[in-house]
Amino acid sequence: MKKLAILILLLFQMTGVFSDYRELSDVLKDFKYILEWDDLRGYGLLDIAGRRITFKIGLPWVLVDYREKIDIEPIILKNGAVLLSEKTISVLKKVISEKKRSENYPHISMIMIDPGHGGKDPGTIGSVVLHGKRKELKEKDIVLEIGLKVDELLSRKYPDKKIVMTRTKDRYPTLEERVKMANRINLAENEAMIFISIHANASFNKKAKGFEIWYLPPNYRRNVLNKDTVSQEKQEILPILNSMLEEEYTVESVTLARDIMNSLKKAVGRETQDRGLKAREWYVVRKAKMPSVLIEVGFVTNPREAVLLSSKRYLMKLSKAIYNGICSFIDQFENTRGFTE
Ligand SMILES: [Zn+2]
Repeated sequence: MKKLAILILLLFQMTGVFSDYRELSDVLKDFKYILEWDDLRGYGLLDIAGRRITFKIGLPWVLVDYREKIDIEPIILKNGAVLLSEKTISVLKKVISEKKRSENYPHISMIMIDPGHGGKDPGTIGSVVLHGKRKELKEKDIVLEIGLKVDELLSRKYPDKKIVMTRTKDRYPTLEERVKMANRINLAENEAMIFISIHANASFNKKAKGFEIWYLPPNYRRNVLNKDTVSQEKQEILPILNSMLEEEYTVESVTLARDIMNSLKKAVGRETQDRGLKAREWYVVRKAKMPSVLIEVGFVTNPREAVLLSSKRYLMKLSKAIYNGICSFIDQFENTRGFTE
């Protein structure tokens, strides 16, 4: 197959078919862009006008924003120069001049809220003295109340997005079931979803307090693309696509974590402590094939924080903060496609 391609290229070169081809660097000279070029594998990632265009030498299509496949005349490599046909140039120019908020533009179509534990699994348990009476404080109840509120706020703000909860009652879906719920959702090429797991913390150290957010560590390799759902022509570059998408999910997870963290700091930073962003391979975060974070809202084992976590007013504050963080992530994702950091 390779030999045939080389032969055809040689034939093209000899017949001078390249006359209406232009060099990539020449085409780009009027634009602000970043080009990552992998010489070895012959693929490039072009970051231009807020869009990301992935191409591979010899392939008759490019991938825009990791999701949208657009047909082109194959890009070729000649004497170390990347060459594009006039037709390909006009297709790509159209792509980058398109309004970012067009119907094709990537958007979050679904948000999954996962209140941890439930039913037979109470999660961590603390206690609080209210009106002279000691009362048990269960993680499963705290996170369900927050989850339901976040769901309500998001549903009101985004009537056209699907907001799904892994549980809305005091019941226990297993971790596998929760992840399955998220992974079985089929998204169109321009749609994305996010997964948010909510938990409360405990420690033998009664002084430990504050909120923290976990995301998947960047070095953890996972298969985010399922071989069976990828079209035949994409199979060839599946490992590349997989690692790029994986990298994108990680960047998005960190961005989402940071947005929620900033919002929590603003809302309750004075009442408790910000413990920062952390990376760890939590099961739900690891297995969810989408940007995902796990929020620990506070410690039920800290006497003062337990009082906060038993107050409806405080849970409402936490819910609003999480909701605001999600909203600012969505704003960025849909308006600026702001994941170029
Ligand atoms: Zn938990």
